[in-house]
Amino acid sequence: MSHVFASIVSHHDLPVVALALLLCVVSALSTFAQLQRAFECVVQRRLLWLISAAVTAGGGVWSTHFISMIAYRTPVALQFDQVLTALSAMIAVAAFGIAFWLLRRARGMVSVLLYGAIATLGIVGMHFTGMAALSNSMVHRVDHAPILAAVTVGWLLLSGAFALFLRLDGRRRVTVPAMGLVLATGIIHFVAMASAMIGHGPVAAPAAGGGAQWLLVWIVAAALLLIGLTAVASVVDRFLTDLRGLADATSEGLLITSDDRILDANEQACALLGVDRAALVGTAAAAWFETPARDMLHPHRGDAVRTRIRGSVVEDQLVEMTARAIEYRGRAATVVALRDLTESARAQRAIEHLASHDPLTGLVNRAAFDIGLHEAVRSAAPFALIAVDLDRFKAVNDLFGHGAGDTILIRVARILDDCVRAQDLVARVGGDEFVVLQRDIASSDDARRLAARILARFAEEMDSARDPMAVGCSLGVVTYPSDGCDPETLRHNADVALYRAKQSGRGTASFFDETMDREARDRRSLEHDLRHAVCRGELRLVYQPLVSTDDDHVVGYEALLRWDHPERGQVPPSLFIPVAEEAGTIMAIGEWALRQACRDAAAWPDPLTLAVNVSPVQLRVATLPMLVRDALADSGLAPERLELEITETALLRDREVSLAILREIRTLGVRIAMDDFGTGYSSLSNLRHFPFDKIKIDKSFVSAMHEDEAARSIVRAIAGLGKGLNLPVVAEGVENEVQRSMVQAEGCALAQGYLFGRPAATVLAQDVAPVRVRRA
Ligand code: C2E
Ligand code: MG
Ligand code: MG
Repeated sequence: MSHVFASIVSHHDLPVVALALLLCVVSALSTFAQLQRAFECVVQRRLLWLISAAVTAGGGVWSTHFISMIAYRTPVALQFDQVLTALSAMIAVAAFGIAFWLLRRARGMVSVLLYGAIATLGIVGMHFTGMAALSNSMVHRVDHAPILAAVTVGWLLLSGAFALFLRLDGRRRVTVPAMGLVLATGIIHFVAMASAMIGHGPVAAPAAGGGAQWLLVWIVAAALLLIGLTAVASVVDRFLTDLRGLADATSEGLLITSDDRILDANEQACALLGVDRAALVGTAAAAWFETPARDMLHPHRGDAVRTRIRGSVVEDQLVEMTARAIEYRGRAATVVALRDLTESARAQRAIEHLASHDPLTGLVNRAAFDIGLHEAVRSAAPFALIAVDLDRFKAVNDLFGHGAGDTILIRVARILDDCVRAQDLVARVGGDEFVVLQRDIASSDDARRLAARILARFAEEMDSARDPMAVGCSLGVVTYPSDGCDPETLRHNADVALYRAKQSGRGTASFFDETMDREARDRRSLEHDLRHAVCRGELRLVYQPLVSTDDDHVVGYEALLRWDHPERGQVPPSLFIPVAEEAGTIMAIGEWALRQACRDAAAWPDPLTLAVNVSPVQLRVATLPMLVRDALADSGLAPERLELEITETALLRDREVSLAILREIRTLGVRIAMDDFGTGYSSLSNLRHFPFDKIKIDKSFVSAMHEDEAARSIVRAIAGLGKGLNLPVVAEGVENEVQRSMVQAEGCALAQGYLFGRPAATVLAQDVAPVRVRRA
């Protein structure tokens, strides 16, 4: 070691050696800084940085060697063969290049040692090629052992430098390996120099003057500057790449503009505008957007502005822009942030559509219609409101399932939509309820024509003769302002008109008038009063006898409801029962009637029977059998003495449910009579589906039979039917002797009517079966 040190001190120009070492240190630091960049950067730039690092490393090692050679004091100035000198530099660069390239894939210490060996061989190869380039000197004697030792130490140092480079991070990743490279270069060079005797060749040249030394300084300074700049470039590149990465990582598009020219743009901005960065930079920013975005390109103009990109093919495109003043590359600039709102605007529209539309039919819903109606009233222009209700829809839904029901609703929506003009509004406001707003009508005739058009289209497209799923519709029509000045009144009056349309035999349109309104009000007040009738004790039962036509003796009584209204007086059941059925109060009223009648009848002499009328509404509720059992148990009336009268309308809706309930009641021992027989649609088929215990011929046939042969034939046929089925037949409404003898002659075993007794509050006290009634 002392030998090497002595060689440096005695044979070298020390300031120049110091210069060489400085160059070596700077180049080593720069090498690893660039190598780090190569390892971190994106794949596209990796090769560039690897080459740059290899050139710096190879160039640094070569320069160190070259300058040290110049620092070597020889009797004559050293001369270099230019080709070999250049080759020596290339060897170093190539070896470092290969080593660095492979280092990226290093797996374990063995591979690192191998790449260290490649780099070391590069230094050694460069050194001896450089020595060979001395054209006017020759190496007299070489001591191989120390050289070999120095190369081994250099190899280990370089391998160590590589290993540490792979392992360390932060600044140490550059500084520590750089020291390894400096030491390896220095040791190999100076040991090799100390182990060789260099003499001058046959052709001696004059010694180099001081000017050459200055040239050397300039070369070193230039090399240092170059290397330093490369190192700075690697740091700046890293910094800028980080910033660009940051800019590209945002979800917003960013444009940097100055004097309305685009200076830079991130990836998102390029994607949004559909061009690459090169096509953007330098162009006028305002040219890319529609107004009012132009204003936005200047900061401090206000909040975010929404605009479209010029020439965009996306029809519903929406871009939000915000601008901020920044300093960019030392000058005042504006950063414009672009947010693509197209998708969120679409989602927003979809949500709004969902909130205001019926998802099944696509028509507007009740909430949106209400807004439309309010607006129509505010505008004060005459319009019509048509309430549409479907007939038979529930039956279709029950029979064919909800899928079929949905299809019908969609068909109905299409029909209505086809009938109206673009400015009109059709809405689905309930299950099978629709409503049409006909705007800007000249007179009520316009509404009349639209109603007629709707009915005609329904008749055309919904032919129940051909299509079992066809439904009809009833319409209630009001016009503004004649039928109401506010949305609530108009809607209410349309419902009143609709109710009337349904009452007057479905499939019609009904126009609102004042009488209708009065009727509706009357009905509502009746409905209201009925709710309290039971608890206020306004209801009572009267009983009408059923007699045997043979001997006029009473077999039982039918309980009939009476309502003594505090103001209206007696309200007939034909008036209040339908109201109670519609309002649902029939459930409470029916229960009260059944319990009360059973209690009354329990006091009657056995075997007088009790007939109680049961509403179709009651027959749809599964608890009816329980109520019957309870009423019997409470009163102690024997089940055989109770008879429930049902009308055929009870079997029109929910037929299966009603029949099941009837069967259950029958298992209690209670009999079931078919009331008002002959007035329904399917009297005969009902007899087939349920084993009734009695048939009551409707009084309309009995009252007409003495003058109407058809009525008499019907009575005869029903009586014959009863005989065939072994069912007792009751003739209702027998008012006189003629009718009595006629029904008796036709074979009706039982009769009921004013002739035998009007409905009365109490049954005759002396009625002990069999009783003979006194004829009225
Ligand atoms: P309905 O069950 O057919 O009752 C027979 C109706 O005919 C009774 O009318 C009775 O007063 C009337 N009537 C009896 N004999 C004659 C006659 O000779 N000539 C004429 N013109 N009429 C006669 P009312 O009491 O007005 O009852 C009408 C309907 O109201 C009943 O018809 C029944 O369907 C219903 N109703 C009565 N009470 C109840 C009840 O408690 N529950 C239910 N659900 N319905 C009831
Ligand atoms: Mg009856
Ligand atoms: Mg009847």
